[in-house]
Amino acid sequence: MPAPETPTYVGRFAPSPTGPLHFGSLLAAIASYLQARAHNGRWLLRIEDIDPPREQQGADRLIVATLEAYGFEWDGPVTYQSNNERRHREVLDELLKRGVAYPCACSRRDLAGAPTGPLGAIYPGTCRSGCNAEETAVRVLTHDRRITFHDGLQGHYGQRLESESGDFVIWRRDGLVAYHLAVVVDDHDQGVTEIVRGIDLLDSTPRQIHLQQLCGFATPRYVHIPVATNPDGQKLSKLTGAAAIDAQHPAETLVSALRVLRQKPPGNLASASLQEIWRWATGHWTLTPLAGRKTVQGGQDSMLQRENRLR
Ligand code: GLU
Repeated sequence: MPAPETPTYVGRFAPSPTGPLHFGSLLAAIASYLQARAHNGRWLLRIEDIDPPREQQGADRLIVATLEAYGFEWDGPVTYQSNNERRHREVLDELLKRGVAYPCACSRRDLAGAPTGPLGAIYPGTCRSGCNAEETAVRVLTHDRRITFHDGLQGHYGQRLESESGDFVIWRRDGLVAYHLAVVVDDHDQGVTEIVRGIDLLDSTPRQIHLQQLCGFATPRYVHIPVATNPDGQKLSKLTGAAAIDAQHPAETLVSALRVLRQKPPGNLASASLQEIWRWATGHWTLTPLAGRKTVQGGQDSMLQRENRLR
């Protein structure tokens, strides 16, 4: 009997439980799912619950229930990033021990006069030569060689971290792991080979690649999908209508999301079963129409119309 084929593709969807799933995160879920399925790969669901002050109670369960209602099927159990804290600390300690990370006591106020770059305040390196406060954050040393990668949709992208962001925080002063460190460790530990996510995280990627390089982790492939805008070209946000997606009409919303992802679903697909919609979507999945796009228009029209009718 031939050995079962081990998937060489591992993808994931990694929502933060800061609120219910909205249309933008649905697009990331769909794109990462279809990309994994079209490669006969695995698709993992990881709840990134590492920032309790920003989280909404019950949002994790709501997100999982919504994904279930849409017919997503993840491989293995849902994982919670907070359960990997011991590993995050282990990697942090290793970086500190090697002297590539250092404690920093600078407050936001201390940095108020620092120059700002495209990523916000550029850390001037104040604590590089030491600080002896009790409560500190931890920053990682950066260098000024350009860190570049080839994004599956956005092409070449790069940053010189030292001059564009400065040394960045990998462990917060309030004792919580910072997103960049947690995401890099978890993607590595879970064997993720390709990350498909929203374009809002494109400019985080060089910092994450820097951490991968310091930790000796392989860099996965990256695909940053465009953000959905309303017909006026505004990014969908809570104000412009990125309400929680409708779990009552998954087929309709799924098909409209596929349309936004420029997959050209046939007109009658919304009346098919979820299973048939997913079969069509997997069989026809292509990134090509999204290449180079930073925004895609529309998406919630039917939902918005329905909401307006209810108002
Ligand atoms: N947890 C992040 C978010 O919900 C996404 C992280 C990622 O995909 O790398 O914005």
